[in-house]
Amino acid sequence: MDHARAATSATSPPAPFPLAAADLCVKCGLCLPHCPTYLDSQSEADSPRGRIMLMQGLATGRIAISDSLEAHLDGCLGCRACEKACPAGVPYGALIDAGREQLAAQRPDRLKPTRRLSAVLSRASLRALVRVALWAYSASGLQMLVRRSGVLGRGRLARLESTLPRVALRSSPAVRATGAERGTVAIFIGCIGDIAEREVANDLARLLAACGFRAEITAAQTCCGAIDQHAGHAPQARRLAQQNVAAFGSGHAVAILPLATGCAATLLDYPRLVADGGQPFAARVQDPIAFLLAHGDALRFKPSPLRVAIHDPCTQSHVIGQGDALRRLLARIPGLEAVTLDATARCCGAAGTHFVTAPEAADRLLQPKLEAAARLAPQVIVSGNIGCSLHLAGGLLRAGRGVTPEVLHPVRLLARCLA
Ligand code: SF4
Ligand code: SF4
Repeated sequence: MDHARAATSATSPPAPFPLAAADLCVKCGLCLPHCPTYLDSQSEADSPRGRIMLMQGLATGRIAISDSLEAHLDGCLGCRACEKACPAGVPYGALIDAGREQLAAQRPDRLKPTRRLSAVLSRASLRALVRVALWAYSASGLQMLVRRSGVLGRGRLARLESTLPRVALRSSPAVRATGAERGTVAIFIGCIGDIAEREVANDLARLLAACGFRAEITAAQTCCGAIDQHAGHAPQARRLAQQNVAAFGSGHAVAILPLATGCAATLLDYPRLVADGGQPFAARVQDPIAFLLAHGDALRFKPSPLRVAIHDPCTQSHVIGQGDALRRLLARIPGLEAVTLDATARCCGAAGTHFVTAPEAADRLLQPKLEAAARLAPQVIVSGNIGCSLHLAGGLLRAGRGVTPEVLHPVRLLARCLA
């Protein structure tokens, strides 16, 4: 399928806004102290309750679309801390996606950047081009030169450059399971993961092999659709979800393990996006660290005297859960001290593309994490979400406090510590 063409030709009307779900909100305000944007601005319109009222007004025609309304809805990080705190079971994540779909129906131009990004990220050939370009940029020494010379100054371009990942060109090797083979597991690599986290996929395959599982990465998989879904570009999100459901089929893989928690949260939402096959697909999606803990009695780790700070992505804390699985696995590594980077579990500001599109707001949210890193002085920070990792690593680089901790996917750290 030509996804770029499909993305630019999407003209189907938006689904009706789910007013019944929004009406579950009793306006109690218990979610407000959990909302990072409300805490930042102290404005009701930047709170979950306020945004729900704005979306209800827009959907019923009581409020007209305006730049201000758009800014309040776009300011939502999609962290879903409010959803977890809500006693009435308001499905806030689904509401904000639907609210932005209504915005896009009235202001289609707002989707232009998302369409362009999606057209690149949903095509394997274009992802490969980006991967090679990023690899050449760092491997040639140009990146070091740019950073040391300060030629980009201190503006937006320099900030964007500081968040670029270091990428490897190695493809995924076939890794044989050790001992009696217990089954096949599919790795969902994701679009940014395909560009920047192939080594994480290799390491996950090694860890799975040590547990007795064979890992496979199907080439037909594509972007999970999160970028489109959260921008209100629902038709493209559904197309990508359908492609992934078909790619993984009913298959022989006993589980589908996404590398990024952001992807995992979207894959778990596939029953809402794909009527035919979304439910059985989502039922096979598992957190890779929790899978390793559940099946990893055979994993043996060498002594690793490291202080490791754990950054819990919002999608782990508020959607998937199972954050204790990583702590329990790290506790099995002799000499390793694991600490929590920021116990408030508030969003770091990465929030999909937010750290690129709203850098000032994203950096305000990142500041407590940088201060915690300076206080705890870990050698390594682990994060299971690529967006958080890029945002954290960029912030640490710009803070420039001497030796900065390495920011790693937890799978990379576990694989390094394998005996
Ligand atoms: S979203 Fe939930 S917690 Fe927040 S005001 Fe509505 S009912 Fe209360
Ligand atoms: S998803 Fe996060 S940022 Fe958005 S309203 Fe809820 S708590 Fe606030």
